[in-house]
Amino acid sequence: MNIHANDGISQSGIDALAGFGFTLTTTNVAQEQLINYINENNIAGILVRSATTVRKDLIDACPGLKLIGRGGVGMDNIDVDYAREKGLHVINTPAASSSSVAELVFAHLFGAVRFLYDANRNMPLDGETKFKALKKAYAGGTELRGKTLGIIGFGRIGQATAKIALGLGMDVAAYDPFMNEATVTVDFFNGQSVDINIKTRSFDEVLAQSDFVTLHVPAQDKPTIGAAEMAKMKKGAGLINAARGGVVDEEALVNALESKHLSFAALDTFVNEPTPAVKLLMHPSISLTPHIGAATNEAQDRIGTELAQQIKDLLG
Ligand code: NAD
Repeated sequence: MNIHANDGISQSGIDALAGFGFTLTTTNVAQEQLINYINENNIAGILVRSATTVRKDLIDACPGLKLIGRGGVGMDNIDVDYAREKGLHVINTPAASSSSVAELVFAHLFGAVRFLYDANRNMPLDGETKFKALKKAYAGGTELRGKTLGIIGFGRIGQATAKIALGLGMDVAAYDPFMNEATVTVDFFNGQSVDINIKTRSFDEVLAQSDFVTLHVPAQDKPTIGAAEMAKMKKGAGLINAARGGVVDEEALVNALESKHLSFAALDTFVNEPTPAVKLLMHPSISLTPHIGAATNEAQDRIGTELAQQIKDLLG
């Protein structure tokens, strides 16, 4: 049976699919040629990440297609309900990248409380001539231990973030309208683990009590954190968005940083991807990454093998 991965797939996924007896193609076919490609090559399963879209027209035009797979979480690029109505399997790998996103949150957080985002911009320019001035400018950092991390959206990534926070000795203030409590298991290298029960708090409590707030909600129609919510946050707090562009109001964020109400922000996702607002990119108080939350070798490996296993279970 033929499977086509149009946006790439990890070697572990290629190996697993081959091991299960599937024939896999991985050339990137242009969106407008995809229907022909699928029909001419008798493709039974198409795998995509976020670049390729699988809409109603493609589903209608490819009667041999049995499965659509998304390597990763969000499925906004697939007409999921329509495909399922037509009897197709639609699968994704929702848990594969949770730890990777959580670690990126902490990469930003550790960096931000010691001003690394700014030091890394200025050391190459002035480190040789103004070392003492820079040393003074970047003194006054803070530790994470003992601080409170506010987590908005306590699903897979929110809880993976909580594990790291708890391991560091932080308090976790979680808000999730669909959850009253969750037990988070903190695993140690030697096989020991500790279960910690976290009772969610109200949105306003989380905003008011947290030293840093990180968002892990699904894509929203309107910002979850806008000017009003930022005003409820502690003065000097930091805000992290590695969820989706638009869950933080970017205009309000710049204003809150300019007024020094917030001391820093960290952004992995942006409203205007792939051309984020220049005033965010140039802002000296924002730690920036280009939507790389899930982009670790480990997450890509897990995505590949999880997809392969599901394909075997459904089509094998
Ligand atoms: P999940 O479905 O496991 O968790 C989302 C949680 O948010 C759920 O528990 C839900 O009840 C809660 N929620 C929904 N609406 C809410 C609201 N208005 N306020 C507070 N909580 C709300 O999803 P996940 O796997 O944890 O993913 C979370 C986000 O991370 C998604 O937006 C996803 O697109 C994003 N993500 C980003 C990257 C990256 O590269 N940066 C990678 C993977 C996922």
